[in-house]
Amino acid sequence: MRRQRKAKIVATLGPATSTQAEIEGLFLAGVDVFRLNFSHGSHADHKKRYDIIRYIEQSTKRPIGVLVDLQGPKLRVGQFENGSVTLEPGQKFRFDLDPALGNEHRAPLPHPEILSALRPGVTLLLDDGKLRMRVRKAAKDAAECEVEIGGTLSDRKGVNVPDVVLPLSPLTKKDRTDLTFALDLGADWIALSFVQRPEDVAEARKLIQGRARIISKLEKPAAIERLDEIVELSDAVMVARGDLGVEMPAEDVPGLQKRIIAACRLAGKPVVVATQMLDSMVNAPTPTRAEASDVATAVYDGADAVMLSAETASGRFPLESVSMMNRIAERVERDPFYRRILEAQRLDHEATASDAISQAAAQVAHTLSAAAICTYTTSGSTGLRMARERPDAPILCLTSKLQTARNMALVWGTHCVVTADIKRFSEMAEKACRIALREDFAKAGERIVVTAGVPLGTPGSTNILRVAWVEE
Ligand code: PGA
Ligand code: MN
Repeated sequence: MRRQRKAKIVATLGPATSTQAEIEGLFLAGVDVFRLNFSHGSHADHKKRYDIIRYIEQSTKRPIGVLVDLQGPKLRVGQFENGSVTLEPGQKFRFDLDPALGNEHRAPLPHPEILSALRPGVTLLLDDGKLRMRVRKAAKDAAECEVEIGGTLSDRKGVNVPDVVLPLSPLTKKDRTDLTFALDLGADWIALSFVQRPEDVAEARKLIQGRARIISKLEKPAAIERLDEIVELSDAVMVARGDLGVEMPAEDVPGLQKRIIAACRLAGKPVVVATQMLDSMVNAPTPTRAEASDVATAVYDGADAVMLSAETASGRFPLESVSMMNRIAERVERDPFYRRILEAQRLDHEATASDAISQAAAQVAHTLSAAAICTYTTSGSTGLRMARERPDAPILCLTSKLQTARNMALVWGTHCVVTADIKRFSEMAEKACRIALREDFAKAGERIVVTAGVPLGTPGSTNILRVAWVEE
């Protein structure tokens, strides 16, 4: 089973996608990585979906990625006497630690570390930025604010504080419990929400201990300021446009998206564009033209993956959303203009054999119109460097590690096959040809380009490039 596109699709599972038939439908329609969003649902719900994914993986013999998204330090106001209040511009409003229910003058903000970090002049955004306040007076356990943009504020709505680097770990108590659960479950990717500093990623890495790879969600202005360092320490990055567009003006998000994609492309780290991509498909079977264009733009920019959230988790048309995304990506990638855009983004190379071989493989495959590039990769790092070249030929990654194959499901242009390590050099081309044929990546009489490393089985040793004819 092969996909006809290079960009990957991530889809979030939720109440609309819980049964085996629903999840299998999404997989067949094009999902490469399933996202389990730990902001919602119980551990039992997530485990049920996880088991279904692994069952589909077995029955289709295709590695599937599972991304567990941790909620992170999402701040929320407390509750109100009447469930909500309506606030007028210009009025005063106080946040404090008093657990008593709120009213039109005050409300609990049960985050002492936030209150103590607030300073006069700082902006508070409430309910995804629908309401805005400015702090006038800040004490250790209370903040007096002035409402700038009013509206209705109801129980437990989100609070964003874009101007301040908050003294918060990206992993709350809930996240730590969820993380242990997710790692025991067998998650391939762990997404960290509201990363602010490189140290946040390092802290998570200590806890994860190599049991999963880390995807940092960029949704705070502070993280953008230290973009390169965060990319460096992460295994992948998500352009989390939902919260990013609350913390920063909406008009800044498109440019930031391009900047983040470019930084990840340079570093050779997978990058996912997320949130509201086909948002109107939550309620309609077709997207707006602007949404189709949004998905296409991410693909033209060379993102590794595009993501669906509510569209598949709770929308009315999950299957249609995946099919639509699949069709848009396929269509873009058949556009000659797409190749021209990718080729215009010439990236420098590291002075390593792996980079030199990958660069050469892409070039040789292009010149020969080879059917595929077959890359032997153990940890996936050679596969990543190959993908970084954005070759026109598909990349067939051969690995003995199921874990690598699952992780690579997120990576542009790769199709991973789990197979035993080769033991003799003579097997290298023969095995690659056999698998390329079997997986429908090449026909008899076509050529493939093969990369591998000798001594065999030594990670990081890629140093061989071969051209091989596929035979019947
Ligand atoms: P969320 O993250 O869906 O977990 O909030 C994505 C985003 O903010 O865009
Ligand atoms: Mn978010």
